[in-house]
Amino acid sequence: MGLFRKSRTENQPAPIEGIDTLLCDLDGVVYRGANAVPHAVDAINAYASQGIRVGYITNNASRTDAAVAAQLAGFGLHTAAEDVVTSPQAAVHLLREHLAPDGLVLVVGGDGLVDELTKAGYRVTRSADDTPDAVVQGFAQDVGWAHLAEASFALTREIPWIATNQDWTIPVARGIAPGNGTLVSAVHTAVQKLPIVAGKPETPLFETAVERFDAKSALMIGDRLDTDIKGAKRAGIRSALVLTGIDGPKQLIAAGPDERPDYILEDMRGIAEPYPAVTVTHPRAEVVEAKVGSAHVVLDGVTLSVRSRSHDRIDVIRASCAAIWNSDKLIYALEIPESMLRAWNPETDSANGAA
Ligand SMILES: [Mg+2]
Repeated sequence: MGLFRKSRTENQPAPIEGIDTLLCDLDGVVYRGANAVPHAVDAINAYASQGIRVGYITNNASRTDAAVAAQLAGFGLHTAAEDVVTSPQAAVHLLREHLAPDGLVLVVGGDGLVDELTKAGYRVTRSADDTPDAVVQGFAQDVGWAHLAEASFALTREIPWIATNQDWTIPVARGIAPGNGTLVSAVHTAVQKLPIVAGKPETPLFETAVERFDAKSALMIGDRLDTDIKGAKRAGIRSALVLTGIDGPKQLIAAGPDERPDYILEDMRGIAEPYPAVTVTHPRAEVVEAKVGSAHVVLDGVTLSVRSRSHDRIDVIRASCAAIWNSDKLIYALEIPESMLRAWNPETDSANGAA
């Protein structure tokens, strides 16, 4: 099967071709909980040894860059604090556009945020009575009503309000808990104003990373369409979704134009492998056909079907996305076989060697 498949496969260059900087999301890309994602560490170390700058970007505002770097080093990655770009750093980067150093900032959040603000020369307060020049809000587990009230009091005046990120939820050991977005929303409801947001999917976090790494041609690797991929697209950065985290075939097929990655990869190894050519016939016609590698998919009216007999599942996912993304049809009106939508399972789906 391998020979036959290869004889029909036309390839594009590997995603890493022409790239000088890899920007990696963390959870679902490098690790999942306490464990490294299979193949991620070896792949990243190999790219770094070839001279690719590897940076990590995270919306998490409660840990410092040094703490994240230490965790990554524990997995076997050669990482230093300056390789990690956090949303508090992006918030400070953003604040500089609104407030000169030495300005007084009311902080809602933890030590990581205070640390970044003071490093940048800002003075910090916790009280609205000090008439701060700006409010910066990030997540910390001890943020409570009194902190949100101080932010609300300060924001009755026209001053900048910057949020590190707008993640609604935060996964913790005991389940899903309110994230920074939920706490920001409480202040928003009280003051009827909206913050400027630094983290993904907004662009400041990406801009901070590009500037720090002097990236001329970056590739963002993420596992979430609504933050990693959407943010990269907004920042004008190429992107790849790896199927090792949150989003899978179902979310990809339904992705809107602003959340569609340039590449769909099984895992981090795919960055260095030739990417199969994607051929779409008759975009926006009643019948749209897409071929990727050995996979042949047809969207006829509202029905999506697979025409090829032998194929790699990853190519079926890529071809299904190509057919749907090149049609004018609404995703909820389509009939899509359940087999195409089921979650990615590296044990049974991978053509790349079991994970
Ligand atoms: Mg993630």
